[in-house]
Amino acid sequence: MPRKNRKCSFCGRSENDVRLMLNGLDSCICDRCVEQAYNIVQENLPPWEKDSGVADVKKKPLMRPTEMKKVLDEYVIGQDEAKIALSVAVYNHYKRLEHNEQDNDVEIEKSNIIMLGSTGTGKTLLARTIARLLDVPFAIVDATVLTEAGYVGEDVESILSRLLLAADYNQSLAEKGIVFIDEIDKIARKGDNPSITRDVSGEGVQQGLLKLLEGSIVNVPPKGGRKHPDQDYVHMDTKNILFICGGAFDGIERKIAQRLNTHTVGYNNVSVRHHVAGTELMRYVQPQDLKSFGLIPEIIGRLPVLTYLHPLDRDALKRILTDAKNSIIRQQIKLFEMDGVELEFAPEALDAIVEKAVQRKLGARGLRGIVETLMTDLQFNTPGSDTKKITITADYVNEQLSKSEVIAG
Ligand code: ADP
Repeated sequence: MPRKNRKCSFCGRSENDVRLMLNGLDSCICDRCVEQAYNIVQENLPPWEKDSGVADVKKKPLMRPTEMKKVLDEYVIGQDEAKIALSVAVYNHYKRLEHNEQDNDVEIEKSNIIMLGSTGTGKTLLARTIARLLDVPFAIVDATVLTEAGYVGEDVESILSRLLLAADYNQSLAEKGIVFIDEIDKIARKGDNPSITRDVSGEGVQQGLLKLLEGSIVNVPPKGGRKHPDQDYVHMDTKNILFICGGAFDGIERKIAQRLNTHTVGYNNVSVRHHVAGTELMRYVQPQDLKSFGLIPEIIGRLPVLTYLHPLDRDALKRILTDAKNSIIRQQIKLFEMDGVELEFAPEALDAIVEKAVQRKLGARGLRGIVETLMTDLQFNTPGSDTKKITITADYVNEQLSKSEVIAG
């Protein structure tokens, strides 16, 4: 193409009207058309091939553990031991990322975390709040859906597919994210004796998880599910991904008691044992108890930070109901306020709700269901009515809940 009076072959603009004109064999293209073409190409690529641009983990100053705990306190009631262990481990993890980028002398190893605690005590909430506070991609996976490669279920690599999705397919962001693996206790080895049938959802999955936890390059099917040969893979490095595992580990108190040699036999000790087991034993948990429970030593070695959550007592449940940021009661008040109605709960009504949650033994998880059942009638009838103020009393709570129980029964 002659170098004089060049015109863009796509939009027809002349050289004087654009910032840059690129010459081809017998055509030209201006900077505007290049930019437009780039955007069209990007729009048509599958998400995992899109250019992730300059976005990376934002270089904000790292929050100190005490600051992290303060934020956790706003959302999660109690559980101080777990909050402290988590804040320190997360702080060290991201400090380690910064350090290893600058200095290769001393390689600091990562500290994945395992949290023990019965259902509905706040394990997921803690992990989710930490991820939100650090503004990193976060994925939750349930260990029970995983199976060893080749069997019905999901491959362990699908865990990383979810993280990739949470990072909008920005791989470098995903590689610094946090994964919460729930119900890790359900993939415990089924028995001490090697069995004739393979333990494909237990030990097999633990072996699979091992390579993710220890940090390696893993072939990840970007859309998750099962791997198959014709698929494109993303090669993800798990070295800087923080894994937080959680599980109820029902019955581990007995293993702890055995180790501590608090006798679990003999009727004389029964009441004492129950008292200790219910409230105290979990705090003495050690890695070897996880081994007795059925986790393989290699996995335990890759989860060096071990912490526990307390069962929630009545007082904690009540505070969860009212005090936590986004608490269920605050949400209800807000919902009614949007209809111009003032909603309040009598203190005894809160006690009645808590009592129900204790009976249902679902920890704080039961609270939401109870409040939803309780409020359905009012939520149905109030909008559009003349009501301007509602006070929920203990009698109303008991009446509504007994109604739903009769139906359920
Ligand atoms: P799990 O320990 O089974 O992972 P979750 O963290 O999923 O329990 O908790 C279930 C729900 O109960 C959460 O959405 C949250 O609203 C509430 N919850 C549980 N524990 C706490 C807590 N310690 N503080 C505040 N809310 C809690």
